[in-house]
Amino acid sequence: MEDCRVTECTRCPALVDSRSRIVNGTGPTDADLLFVGEGPGANEDEQGEPFVGRSGSVLDDALRTAGLDRIDVRITNCVRCRPPENRDPTTEELENCRGYLEREIAAVDPEVVVTLGKVPSEHLLERSVAVTKEAGSLEEVRIDGTPRRVLLCVHPAATLYDRSQEETFEDAIRQAAELAGISESEGGQSRLDGF
Ligand code: URA
Repeated sequence: MEDCRVTECTRCPALVDSRSRIVNGTGPTDADLLFVGEGPGANEDEQGEPFVGRSGSVLDDALRTAGLDRIDVRITNCVRCRPPENRDPTTEELENCRGYLEREIAAVDPEVVVTLGKVPSEHLLERSVAVTKEAGSLEEVRIDGTPRRVLLCVHPAATLYDRSQEETFEDAIRQAAELAGISESEGGQSRLDGF
């Protein structure tokens, strides 16, 4: 399979200055579920892996509740370098990194792409998205010419600021697992059955 790691890139001068390293996607290259976040934060920049800070713990917990584990899914971001002061990536930065994301989506060829938050939702759907209202909706979108199923989801950090988002977040993750055919009854329980 095509290597979707980026090892060198200097397309975004501000991000080259602010990053410690390029943060590539993690997880199986043939995963059924591909989660797409916005961009690395301080923890991700330090450790070189997406969603390893507080947002990552929220994501891990929701995956577990849905009968999944981080190692079962692919996790990546719209931009691979940490923006200064955790600002949103600019349109130009998103565009500069778009080819890398498209290459990763094509290589993994997941059953479902799950967008974590407003930035990846708007980036992949190419329209404005009211993500708290639209979380849980599934759309078919052409990404680099190929139709993909995209499930909208709030960012895990939203649950930390607003407790009422917890259920919205967990429901969308459960739905993602069901759509990909790796729901609790299949993955979680049956794995325990043999022990
Ligand atoms: N938020 C994101 O959007 N991505 C990460 O990798 C971490 C936090």
